[in-house]
Amino acid sequence: MRTRRFDHIWFIECFCTWTIFGLISCATVKKSDIPYEDQSMTFHQSLLTLDTHVDTPLRVKHEGVDLGKRHDPRLIYSKLDFPRMEEGGLDAAFFAVWTPQGARTDSGHAAIKQNALEIIGAVESNIATYPDLAAMAYNSNDAKRLRDEGKYAIYLGMENGYPLGTELENLDLFYERGVRYITLCHTSNNEICDSSNDSTEFGGLSPFGYTVVKRMNQLGMMVDVSHLSDASVEDVLACSEAPVIASHSCAKALCDNPRNINDNLLRQIAKNGGVVQVNLFSEYIKIPTPNPGRDSAQAALKEKWGDKYKLNADQKDAYQLENLEVNRLYPRFLPTVADLVDHIDHIVKIAGIDHIGIGSDFDGGAELEDCYDVSEMPNITQELIHREYSKAAIEKIWSGNLLRLFHEVEMIADSSKTE
Ligand SMILES: [Zn+2]
Repeated sequence: MRTRRFDHIWFIECFCTWTIFGLISCATVKKSDIPYEDQSMTFHQSLLTLDTHVDTPLRVKHEGVDLGKRHDPRLIYSKLDFPRMEEGGLDAAFFAVWTPQGARTDSGHAAIKQNALEIIGAVESNIATYPDLAAMAYNSNDAKRLRDEGKYAIYLGMENGYPLGTELENLDLFYERGVRYITLCHTSNNEICDSSNDSTEFGGLSPFGYTVVKRMNQLGMMVDVSHLSDASVEDVLACSEAPVIASHSCAKALCDNPRNINDNLLRQIAKNGGVVQVNLFSEYIKIPTPNPGRDSAQAALKEKWGDKYKLNADQKDAYQLENLEVNRLYPRFLPTVADLVDHIDHIVKIAGIDHIGIGSDFDGGAELEDCYDVSEMPNITQELIHREYSKAAIEKIWSGNLLRLFHEVEMIADSSKTE
């Protein structure tokens, strides 16, 4: 059993006080009502915290990261494990089963489906090694239930609907395997829709994409619009019966990257009851400061070693050493937690406090100067307190909004089964 991260009695007392206070002032977003003495880890640890997007399955499957052991993120590229979830007070995470886009052929689809199933198997077996620490989670109640049992809740999402190929029954298969959201595409168009990083092919959702969204609504799977083109997001909003998520996206008004969400779509997502989960990926938070020394050193590294996932153990060690040296000589210019919270402020202003959450993208490229890995997540809470967000508002940001939406998605699926 892992260490208890907060005193139960303290939490119950605070919970009662906050509930009464919350009834009086639930409309208040700003003007922090957190007592000064609690403006620390104590408050952060009292929250039910959930991150909707980490690419940790990649590390588990391809790099042998063992979730039960603590890793140094500056030595190997790993941003999340159970010891660091403990340090960072993170209770639940959606592990994204990401697959790279390949050929849109029957054989390409069959191969990537197998790959996705193997990634799920690798995550499940690593988590099964630590039954006292963590468990797989499948519904909107599991995050709280498992936290009460002193365990981390690990949900599965799927980033890129490519493994569905053109077969709707694959959706049912992945639902049965535990997947509870699908990011419909990644950086290329697939059989479902157009991507924000690709050219126009369908002009939004494909005819198959419409059937995918409808079936996801029936199954109780959340539709994730991160990575989609604006037209694809609009098509999803027009046809989804359930509210949608953007599992890891920022505000385009603050950082003009095609991956980010413009104000018009933020308003439409809010109207749909959806939630935008802000992302800690630096290029989506701030336009990168030019770093030519680093760019050319990295290009030389890539030229020399090629695909790092195809290296043998000795080559991998040599590559790691050279990569560390590049990082030492030419460090990345990273945004800060304050820059991230600027995006939260903006989304709250445009979409409202009920439509915002956090989806870090750790292990998928995310890192901030002062939130480099999951162990530093309390810095986000500190900044929200500093900006005078209320307790109720911070609770919504850390899990309240997403779990409310997840429950609505489940209810809509249940009602469709009884029709
Ligand atoms: Zn992504």
